[in-house]
Amino acid sequence: MQDYVLPTQLTDSLKDIPGFDKAAFENEHASGKQVTSVRINPSKVNTVPASLMAAKAVPWTKFGYYLSERPSFTFDPIFHAGAYYVQEASSMLLEQAFQQLVNLVEPLKVLDLCAAPGGKTTHIQSLISHDSVLVTNEVIRNRVNILTENITKWGAANVIVTNNDPSDFTRLEALFDVVVVDAPCSGSGLFRKDPQAVEEWSLESVTHCSLRQQRILKDIWPVLKPGGILIYATCSYSTAENELIADWLTTTNDAVSLRLEGLSNWHVVETLSPVHNNFGYRCYPYLLDGEGFYLTCFKKGGEPVFDIVKSVKYQADKKLVPHFDKWLKPNHELQFYQFKEQVFAMPKNTFDLFMLLQSKLNIRKAGVKIGDWARAELIPGHALALSNVYNPDLPALQLEKEAAINYLRRTDFNIDNVSKGWLIIMYEHFSLGWIKGLGNRLNNYYPKEWRIRN
Ligand code: SAM
Repeated sequence: MQDYVLPTQLTDSLKDIPGFDKAAFENEHASGKQVTSVRINPSKVNTVPASLMAAKAVPWTKFGYYLSERPSFTFDPIFHAGAYYVQEASSMLLEQAFQQLVNLVEPLKVLDLCAAPGGKTTHIQSLISHDSVLVTNEVIRNRVNILTENITKWGAANVIVTNNDPSDFTRLEALFDVVVVDAPCSGSGLFRKDPQAVEEWSLESVTHCSLRQQRILKDIWPVLKPGGILIYATCSYSTAENELIADWLTTTNDAVSLRLEGLSNWHVVETLSPVHNNFGYRCYPYLLDGEGFYLTCFKKGGEPVFDIVKSVKYQADKKLVPHFDKWLKPNHELQFYQFKEQVFAMPKNTFDLFMLLQSKLNIRKAGVKIGDWARAELIPGHALALSNVYNPDLPALQLEKEAAINYLRRTDFNIDNVSKGWLIIMYEHFSLGWIKGLGNRLNNYYPKEWRIRN
């Protein structure tokens, strides 16, 4: 049992909302029940790794699983390899919005505006096609690092990470097919998971968040193409951050509310906003296995526009390309980009969008850094080893679990007869990073800032 009191100002304000049941809500929070779920990376695994002891699938996504207990993710090398992401299950409902409202076969430009630490971003990346591009943005500077780390481990080449305020995006009109706003909110939906959050909650913070959400949506609306889809979500129960935001959006913009089918099968509650009857979807932890969550979707009015982004010329020095090729999957169709000695590879669509964005946004990562060109050779990048573009025929070294953890800690580990040169470190069939064999010893190239510290 948890020893805390839910704010009565919150429970009183929710009493008329569909699906809200005060007694069930209070019991659920008092129970201390914790739900652990993960979402697998389909570019690295086909099913949930056996070591996680998955109990059952999360029904509204192809990739989510509940675990029977919470393991130590820090000491699971597969976690560091980006084979799965630990994510609260209700948030995975985002997949239904994509599956039902977006043509996922098309090459899309998707913006995830409030993206750190990267739960929804890694999920979106698994849903879109390889010739789509995901721009994933986080305004708070010190949260961009964790976003970059998570997307690097996810391994996809068609992602651009930016660090901008939503207002910076007004420079880019009618560019994106889909914009996801997982808005900063008062966080009441996470009270069961994080009882500490209860103390930070207040009606003032709900009002403050609601005004900020309107500002974010106002700034970002122009960047959506006419005919494009906006997906707005919060982890708050308050109508001021959910249905009233949906009403504000359709009052101030040419936006049409979109309905999702079949969610009630999983006890997700459909709501209608009070003024414009906009559809919204609420998750309550006493009705399903997940935390509090709200999702609403809109289509932007107006005639669809055709892509204006023009192909731009190949940037990397052509003479060097044969040196890059041997590190990459055969027959790849990647474009290279060089920034001083750093070399990046990305699909053509990502490259075109990157060229357009680079003068307008603060880009922190685009595509996969395949390495640094130094003294007439490529020093392979960590991101390459974690990516889905590296050449599977490169020399590799298979480690057992204890040695893999030592590798991830950057502590010494002994390997007899390690061959000379660059080797990909493998644990089971997941690549973890690079070492360089020097004959009688080896150098560990796992990034210092990502090492396991405890
Ligand atoms: N989408 C993330 C995920 O699934 O892992 C969680 C996002 S969290 C709910 C909201 C994010 O919005 C935070 O990373 C926060 O730093 C960011 N944020 C805070 N203030 C913001 C603002 N004024 N504009 C845009 N984003 C903001």
